[in-house]
This record gives sequence, C-alpha cells and structure tokens, in this order.
Amino acid sequence: MSRAFGGPGKYIQRRGEIACLEQHLTPLGDRFLMLADRAVLDRLTKAAGGIAGLDIMAFNGECSAAEIARVVAAIRETGAQVVIGAGGGKAIDTAKIAAVQTGARIVVLPTIASTDAPCSAVAVRYTEEGVYEESLRLPRNPDVVLVDSELIVAAPVRFLIAGIGDALSTWFEARSNLESRTPNYVAGGFPPTEVGIAIARRCHDVLMAEAPKAVAAARQGRITASVERIIEANILMSGLGFENCGCSAAHGIHDGLTVLEATHHLLHGEKVAFGSLCLLMLENRDLAEITEAIRFCRNLGLPVTLADLGLGQASRDDITRVAEAALAPGECTFATPVELTVDTVRDAILALDAFAREVL
Ligand SMILES: [Zn+2]
Repeated sequence: MSRAFGGPGKYIQRRGEIACLEQHLTPLGDRFLMLADRAVLDRLTKAAGGIAGLDIMAFNGECSAAEIARVVAAIRETGAQVVIGAGGGKAIDTAKIAAVQTGARIVVLPTIASTDAPCSAVAVRYTEEGVYEESLRLPRNPDVVLVDSELIVAAPVRFLIAGIGDALSTWFEARSNLESRTPNYVAGGFPPTEVGIAIARRCHDVLMAEAPKAVAAARQGRITASVERIIEANILMSGLGFENCGCSAAHGIHDGLTVLEATHHLLHGEKVAFGSLCLLMLENRDLAEITEAIRFCRNLGLPVTLADLGLGQASRDDITRVAEAALAPGECTFATPVELTVDTVRDAILALDAFAREVL
C-alpha cells in the first residue's frame, strides 16, 4: 500500500537557456563551482564566465574515486555552496556525488542527452579504466536541471541516439520491476506511484512516435517540436521513470558488457539498447515486441547484434563472463522476473544476437 516518488526540484528545458544560468543559480547561494566536460569547456566559459562567484574546472573524464576526491577538494577550497555538473553523465554524476559529500546544492546542466543521469539521485562510479564499480543512491536529487536544447543539438547526434537507447530501457525495466515487485530507488526503496509508472510508459510511447523524426532533424542541427519531445523523453521521462520504477537486466547486461575491453568505445546508451533487447529475450516477451524493438534500434543505428558491439569474435566464455558480471551481488539484473542464472542470461544474450541477425 505504500509508495514513493522522487525527482529533481525543477526541470527547465529551452533553446538558449544557458543565457539564464545566473538567475537559476543566485537563489541557491553566492559561491559556485562548475565541473565541465572538456568538450564544452570553452563554450560554457564563454556563456557563464561573467557570473560573479563562479569558478569553472575541467572534468577529468571518469567518474572515479580519485576524480570525486579532486572535486570535493575544489569545493572546499573555493567555498562553493552550489556545484554545477555540466556535460555528459559522468561529469554530472561526479558533481552530484561531490556535492552530497560536501553539503552543496546541485545544479545539473546536461550538454548532451545521452543518458538519464541528470534528474536522478543515482550515480554510477567506475574504475579509472572505465570498468563499472558501484551504483550509489544519493540522499538528494539535483535542485535544478537546466537543459539548453541548442547545446544538445550542437553535440554529435550519436549522443542523442544513445540517449534514446538508454530511454528505451525505461519502460521495459519498469515492467520487470512491477512484475517482480522490486522496490524502487526512492528513499531506500518503495513500490512505485501511479505517476512514476505512467511516466515510464509514456516515455516509451514518445520514443516510438518521435525518435526517427527527431534524429533526422537533430542530424541537420534543427530544433523541432519532435526534438524537444525526445530531449524530454531522454532526460526527464527516462530519469524519473528509472528512478521511480527501477532498472533490471538491460542495465545489468550493460554493466556485464563493460568487463569486455572491446565494448569500451561504446556509449552507455548504446550498450543499454542492446541490453534492452536481451532483456526482452530473457523475459521471453511477445515476438512482435522484440521484433519492433530490434527494428527501432537498427533504424537509429543502435547496436542489435554482438558484431555491432565489436564482439563479433567473442567466444561463449566471453559472454559467460558478461553474464557472471551481470549477476554480481547487488546488480539490478535481479529485478528481472525470471529464473536468473549464468546459463539463462548468457543464452538470452546469444539467442538475441542470433534472432536479430535473422530478423534483419
Ligand atoms: Zn542508463
């Protein structure tokens, strides 16, 4: 009978919103530290450099224990009351963790829409080498999430497509959690609210209706109503959906794939897209649904086979290692409502690969 819902304090999405950054910051404090991805450092320095009390530091590239410690030290040194995580998911997660450790407020400024990290109180830590280490549940969501659609569309379209791959997992994984009655990620774990479930479901509908149109427009640097809806689906709906309903084997298999060096060139959402297809096979969903998801991913250029992941030469033992890692203690794979063993997970991955090649 209990239920809980969590999300960011405010979400603002608008073309050119970066110009309004100062007015979003000043209610939160007067000393600010921005952790910015190198790819957008110049652009953000130009846009925000004049804000009084703002220091900007470049992100080192990995959300690792060492990088978190470096940012914590910088917050203490500058006396920042507000930390701004600007860039991709890893810079944002690093800023979120460092802010919580120092008691600072959190503003998130995603410059790509490649993951659903910005809105949530969940952060993922990796080793220096990029191997998944731990998923942290922070006690606070970001205070403000600011999305400038111009920045999102200025980035390579591959990021937007990866975000669609990450968002594709939202409803499928929410459904796993509903069927397995697994607690969500809010306040230590509760059943989801109707609102949370509706958002996850709606996320899927928006992706199916808008993704091909939005990608075509974004590829040309155009911002259309469709692009804005996909940005909202990738960042807000997917973020609220996964936090309020939970992840399952799509993300578990993503985590497993990171043990294979050959996948390190791929973006999070690209691996999660493949993991979503594997999840559908693992759960033995309807033929029509699996086929639709494979075609949807293939049309967008998201990976649907092991070869697409750079694992065309992977052995059965390699995929066994992926399955073992996907079933490590604490993995979200365990929210999937089926028999979960190394054999069932490995065979679902190999079977999905074979089926996708036949469908195509
Ligand atoms: Zn994700």
